[in-house]
Amino acid sequence: MSKSILYKLVALVILLSFVLAACGAPAAESDVKMVGISMPTKTSTRWISDGESMVKAFEALGYQADLQFADNDIQNQLSQIENMVTKGADVLVIAAVDGSTMSDVLQKASDAGVLVISYDRLITKTENVDYYATFDNFGVGVIQGTQLLTGLGVLDGATGPFNIELFGGSPDDTNAFYFYDGAMSVIQPYIDSGVLVVQSGQMGMDKVGTLRWLAATAQSRMDNLLSAFYTDEKIDGVLSPYDGLSIGILSSLKGVGYCTPELKCPVVTGQDAEVASIKSMIAGEQTYTVFKDTRVLAAQTAKMVDQALKGETVEINDTETYDNEVKIVPSYLLIPISIDISNYEKELVDSGYISADDLK
Ligand code: BGC
Repeated sequence: MSKSILYKLVALVILLSFVLAACGAPAAESDVKMVGISMPTKTSTRWISDGESMVKAFEALGYQADLQFADNDIQNQLSQIENMVTKGADVLVIAAVDGSTMSDVLQKASDAGVLVISYDRLITKTENVDYYATFDNFGVGVIQGTQLLTGLGVLDGATGPFNIELFGGSPDDTNAFYFYDGAMSVIQPYIDSGVLVVQSGQMGMDKVGTLRWLAATAQSRMDNLLSAFYTDEKIDGVLSPYDGLSIGILSSLKGVGYCTPELKCPVVTGQDAEVASIKSMIAGEQTYTVFKDTRVLAAQTAKMVDQALKGETVEINDTETYDNEVKIVPSYLLIPISIDISNYEKELVDSGYISADDLK
């Protein structure tokens, strides 16, 4: 063999090895699983924290994450999810704007073999949801009801009667019903015995629900309640299921002279340990909130996904509660924590959930 042929052969071998290596690269890349994370809105800081914590948790486990927020718009969320499926997502983690609207898009996801996790809020009316990662939602309501009773002194024997009003969350979110039912499970006996009085008579989620959890809606309902039922009477407590609503309710109360030395704030509950509400608590206004550590929920979700994709046993702790009208969705429930002025620093600041600077 002439030298020149030998050189050509060596060059060809080198070229071939480059081509093969280049072909190998995309194969390795496609081994990285893609997770589409669909959160409902950025108007509440909790969902931003959920999204960011999930991106971190998934990336730490070697996944690629695509995080999208839906601006509280059902159609927007559906097209974002459809896009994720088209782009080849292996997993969807969804906190739905309206949990009952996902059937079609999740059928497409299921046809494409995508694993679906219902995140914090239950997805209903479809069998194509594999797991549910959330907090003990009924337990959240029990905490809120107990806070209201504690704040009024009822659990220490005060007999009132105390005037209270009730607010519920969004009727398109099953959580809202669990929160309300949990709260009423402890409040109702005191309404029945006359210790608590709902002057408006407005009770039940059909009367007290707040569509899309909008603060402005709660604020205007509170305005109406105050002008219709509390010109002669004083209001002593408000059951609010979410900090955003609590801030709206407090604005309304302050508008008619509450939260002053002459007329103190009623007991107001909440949920999510949002910065604005902790500041309000420090200012002596909002009395309580419920802390659900979104970092822990995100980590638990990533763990469940990883277990499912590896064919391992997925860690769940509830197989009875969450009936989505087609099936009982196997769930993992985390434990919510009651927060007031005495423990917010320990639970929220010391744990790094909220920075001390943000509360200044
Ligand atoms: C969540 C709550 C939140 C509410 C409003 C619910 O589904 O569980 O944590 O306060 O939505 O965003």
